[in-house]
Amino acid sequence: PTCALAAVSGADLRVPLVQGGTSTYANFDYAASAPALRQVTDRISQLLPYYASVHRGAGYASRISTECYEASRGSVARFLDADDDQVVVFTRNTTDSLNLLAGCVPGETVVLDIEHHANFLPWTRNGRRVVRAAATLEETIQRIVAELCSRPAALLAVTGASNVTGEVLPLERLAHIAHLCGARILVDAAQLAPHRRISLRESGIDYLAFSGHKLYAPFGSGVLVGRRDWLDAADPYLAGGGAVRNVGVAEAEWAPAPQRHEAGSPNVLGAAAIAAACDALAAIDPEELVAHERALADRLRDGLAAIPGVNPVRIWSDSPDSVGIVAFTVDGYTPGHVAAYLSAEHAIGLRDGRFCAHPLLTSLGLDAALRASIGLGTTPADIDRLITALTTLVTTGPTWTYAPTNGHWNP
Ligand code: PMP
Repeated sequence: PTCALAAVSGADLRVPLVQGGTSTYANFDYAASAPALRQVTDRISQLLPYYASVHRGAGYASRISTECYEASRGSVARFLDADDDQVVVFTRNTTDSLNLLAGCVPGETVVLDIEHHANFLPWTRNGRRVVRAAATLEETIQRIVAELCSRPAALLAVTGASNVTGEVLPLERLAHIAHLCGARILVDAAQLAPHRRISLRESGIDYLAFSGHKLYAPFGSGVLVGRRDWLDAADPYLAGGGAVRNVGVAEAEWAPAPQRHEAGSPNVLGAAAIAAACDALAAIDPEELVAHERALADRLRDGLAAIPGVNPVRIWSDSPDSVGIVAFTVDGYTPGHVAAYLSAEHAIGLRDGRFCAHPLLTSLGLDAALRASIGLGTTPADIDRLITALTTLVTTGPTWTYAPTNGHWNP
């Protein structure tokens, strides 16, 4: 939407082609990891000279580093419009955030079977109750209501947007339902946060997690934001320095959250990078962002739908809303072949496989699929390039022969 934001690093990457020469890279894999924004790389460069551990002394660099680290929590809280009692904990990524929360939930968790493994596997810890998604979103919500009403649950853990199909869940409504049934709600916002502004205050979401590397910041940092009481009552996620107030030979007095769950030297640069991304995204008009991405996603969906033999994957046939993530299959080709062809002959990168959502792929009857996802650097020309490349594949076939897996080809 704004030129400054569209200028993401990596956008001008040149990639060698199997037929010779090079091409600019067309990135359709934002849902896996998004290249860092210039605002993010600038903030990291500014902070690098003050490389020092936080909360460990009054040295000048340590003070700057500490201030920046703590201020980064404020950027995240403002970006998410967090409530006063919601704490920002820095983690390694969404997976880390959800495992951390799983150690704090005082009871069972209800989840859907469409989730990314990160929001599925951790919840076994205190009892996981799985709701099978139905053919329509409405029916799926009724099943969630029935499960939550059947016996008490502590938490409803849902994705904000599916990492397979981009379909968005009605979070405000689900928060209301969870609260009526005496549960809290956790939103895995790994795929939603890069595309939508979320107000924790207005939506009633109790806990939310996302990863820096999908929000235009580098790998290695993530966030868990949520209500203080569960975080303060639980055992520390890791035992070690920084998470304690006092340590005796026999016992330790643990600090409250967020420090309680951040033992060890933290990823200060990662936190600053996430904060810079949050600040940059917060400066965009959210409606403009949605309109911009919707126009691109519609172009992508319409373009794919017009290619004979390209079959879109959907969870709910009546889903009213989605972000720019589209899963599809191509008749006559395995997803691995298509991904290898697009990469080798057209310098187009997208994801193939099972997307760490095996139960969903199984219930859709798919061994694997392809996933094209868009982000701030995507242009209409990129989309047209993908559509043309796929049209060439289904009409004339690939020029080279590709091995079935891992994108290796035999020229
Ligand atoms: N949840 C969703 C919806 C995701 O798409 C992903 C990443 N594919 C994750 C969780 C896990 O993120 P990370 O690997 O950064 O922990």
